[in-house]
Amino acid sequence: MRMNGKRTSRRHFLKTAIAAGASTALRQAPAVAQGTSRVVVVGGGFAGSTCARALKRLDAKLQVTMVEASPTFTACPLSNAVIAGLRELKAQQFTYEGVAGDEVKLVVATAIAIDSQARTVALDSGETLSYNRLVLAPGIDIRWDALPGYDEAAANRMPHAWKAGEQTTLLRRQLEAMEDGGLVVISVPANPFRCPPGPYERASLIAYYLSTRKPRSKLIVLDSKDVFSKQRLFQNGWKELYPGLLEWVSLSSGGKVTSVDPTTNTLVTDFAKHEAKVANVIPPQKAGRIAERAGVADQTGWCAIDPVTFESRLQPNIHVIGDAAIAGGMPKSAFAANAQAKVCAAAVVKLLRGETPVSPKLINTCYSLVAPDYGISIAGVYHPANGQLAEVPGSGGISQVDAPLAARAGGRGAGRRHSASRTMTRRT
Ligand SMILES: Cc1cc2nc3c(=O)[nH]c(=O)nc-3n(C[C@H](O)[C@H](O)[C@H](O)COP(=O)(O)OP(=O)(O)OC[C@H]3O[C@@H](n4cnc5c(N)ncnc54)[C@H](O)[C@@H]3O)c2cc1C
Repeated sequence: MRMNGKRTSRRHFLKTAIAAGASTALRQAPAVAQGTSRVVVVGGGFAGSTCARALKRLDAKLQVTMVEASPTFTACPLSNAVIAGLRELKAQQFTYEGVAGDEVKLVVATAIAIDSQARTVALDSGETLSYNRLVLAPGIDIRWDALPGYDEAAANRMPHAWKAGEQTTLLRRQLEAMEDGGLVVISVPANPFRCPPGPYERASLIAYYLSTRKPRSKLIVLDSKDVFSKQRLFQNGWKELYPGLLEWVSLSSGGKVTSVDPTTNTLVTDFAKHEAKVANVIPPQKAGRIAERAGVADQTGWCAIDPVTFESRLQPNIHVIGDAAIAGGMPKSAFAANAQAKVCAAAVVKLLRGETPVSPKLINTCYSLVAPDYGISIAGVYHPANGQLAEVPGSGGISQVDAPLAARAGGRGAGRRHSASRTMTRRT
């Protein structure tokens, strides 16, 4: 449904919410009085790095230590363009100089155990860090036990490429090595998982690659769902750009993959076996494993949190942000991780002062590429409601569904996120 007559006010609302949301949380939080409070942040991705820097900006006297397993961060956003040969992996990689420049102490190590009573974090280097408050931002881990046949060895043959890095390069190389006329199959898990529109952006960009380089090939997307993020926008784009090349098989049409066989590169559903030349298996996921070890992950594998402070529902003084958290209506995205990190930092500072954190508003926006010059978007505003983060009624929307092709292009090539659709459509 088009939002005739409501576009200006919706844009205005979003702008106001951005100004009044996560960023005001930063401005409003007062400085911490006691200068020796220690906050440890585990994970230096979108959530962890943002939180560590925000904590330091809110109070320079806080001792903030960020523990990150890798000296280089490889970002997932835009990694689908790497798979399609539109961008190099190097462009996805970042060092931590900026974080260190903000006087956050960076420790390159893996956190292996947390003692929530003693408030300590044990590292694989042998060091132990103590904290007043701990922020966990470990992202996701793959559930290696969830899809029969899919284990770490299978991922070398059937890459997931859901953590950017070697897996991204592996999938790209497999596509490059495939002869024209080959079958590519992507399997998509049930919710929740990292980046709800990500599999469909990947399907789009792989379809783009095939249509321009190997046009006799076929791409099948086997889905464990009947509905997905930005569905009408993606499907309209596929019809327009990749007719006959890309086939999406929904859950109710038998799309759920029940097992895989890496020896033959086969994906099995209740109705068919698909022997692929290239198989991209996006498996079920859970919070990064340190969350389990800290006792903050529940039986779902994810971490329940208080929506105002992001403090764990299971362990006091431990906060969980980013993909690892159960953030209600908020999707698991880098944008959401960034917003949550700022809100969490403001809450941690308040709590260390014995003050009451302010109820926040958080934004998520996500752009996807259907082709290098064809971008679509989704946005939403979220707030605490009934103990969860819920979308503010009427706040969000997607790109205009019936926009002309020219409106989808906003920049040059896949290296940019497009401001493709400046008008929004309600998500119905
Ligand atoms: C293909 C793809 C495309 C995407 N595109 C977009 C997009 O366009 N826009 C968008 O907003 N989002 C996108 N996302 C989602 C986005 O990448 C994630 O939501 C985001 O990375 C979550 O941030 P995070 O900080 O929670 O986790 P991460 O970014 O994964 O960071 C977690 C960090 O924690 C570290 N870590 C984990 N455990 C430990 C430990 N025990 N000790 C020390 N360090 C540890 C890891 O090394 C890692 O650096 C995409 C995802 C994928 C897969």
